[in-house]
Amino acid sequence: MKLRVAENIASLVPYPPGKPLEELEREYGVTGSIKMASNENALGPSPKALTAMAAALPNLHRYPDGSCHYLATRLAAHLAVDPAQLVFGNGSNEVIELLIKAFVTPGDEVVTSHPTFLVYATMVQAHGGVNRVVPLANLRHDLDAIRAAVTPRTSLIFLDNPNNPTGTVFTREEFAAFLVQLPETVLVVLDEAYVDFVADGLRLDAREFLGGATPVVALRTFSKAYGLAGLRVGYGIMDPEIAGYLHRVRQPFNVNTLAQVAARAALDDAAFYAETLRMTRAGMAWLIPRLTELGCTCYPSQTNFFLVDLGLDCRLAYEAMLRKGVIVRPMSAYGFPTFIRITVGTTAENERLATSLAATLQELAHA
Ligand SMILES: *Cc1c(COP(=O)(O)O)cnc(C)c1O
Repeated sequence: MKLRVAENIASLVPYPPGKPLEELEREYGVTGSIKMASNENALGPSPKALTAMAAALPNLHRYPDGSCHYLATRLAAHLAVDPAQLVFGNGSNEVIELLIKAFVTPGDEVVTSHPTFLVYATMVQAHGGVNRVVPLANLRHDLDAIRAAVTPRTSLIFLDNPNNPTGTVFTREEFAAFLVQLPETVLVVLDEAYVDFVADGLRLDAREFLGGATPVVALRTFSKAYGLAGLRVGYGIMDPEIAGYLHRVRQPFNVNTLAQVAARAALDDAAFYAETLRMTRAGMAWLIPRLTELGCTCYPSQTNFFLVDLGLDCRLAYEAMLRKGVIVRPMSAYGFPTFIRITVGTTAENERLATSLAATLQELAHA
């Protein structure tokens, strides 16, 4: 082809699309497999969200409400913020991209960590930004090194707290000390996709930092604790002036009708939310000692997932577990060749995972 393709696009690596569950099952000759790989909610979607969506189906010939009016009003009350501080996206992934579109001009630098959520660096590169990547220290964001990586060209810093894939957090005090040392021209994006799961005493409240000299945007999602990953709805909390810039670059109907209705209903489903947190914490508390007994090293986490060092090639373990119908995430692509990431499931799923991992370790020890 004679097309001209910019180097920043040509050198991107497409996100490895996981095969549909049904295809994997056919390939491996298994049925009834369980997916504990993508940090989804094992309880399924909130039942209140399902009911609300069913009621909205007859209106699907209409375009969505481009302002997300009712969802914004409901969520603003829930968070005690002004609706003008909220920007919704097709997943918080879209809000990440809106921030980059609005604030990164080609050649601008963006500071991220490694390993962290892969979407930040990919989107930065796609939009012509320059990634400055700072390694984690002891599996935690190295806030001192991140601050030292800031230059006059830096426009954004992405920090997920807790971090995916390590599940670690920094404290309110650490974040406050970090912020005051930054130039006021840098926007700090605090991705709080897993904030719901953080232990009360460790939870940093991003809202407290929104009005400071250095601008902060908090990102949240309905994909994890609210069980709506398939609908794609997330949001940012920010100063209304920053929100105004994101509205300039977003598509008018970026959040679909069912997502808006379901997210609103999920906010009213306190029982589902509470059960999600209970199940997740109980599941992690059960799994970690069980897998430790098997000889694995587990890294406790403030999320619904945790890292496990198997001490052997994680891709072999991933394959062996797939054959037993248990899907986990191998961490080789994140630079941890002997680690897997496990999303906490239901009691039955956790038990099945522990059994298949035990069998897998046996097999691989004798291979
Ligand atoms: C899962 C996840 C998200 C959520 O993305 P959505 O687009 O809202 O589904 C955002 N950030 C991190 C770090 C995540 O792990």
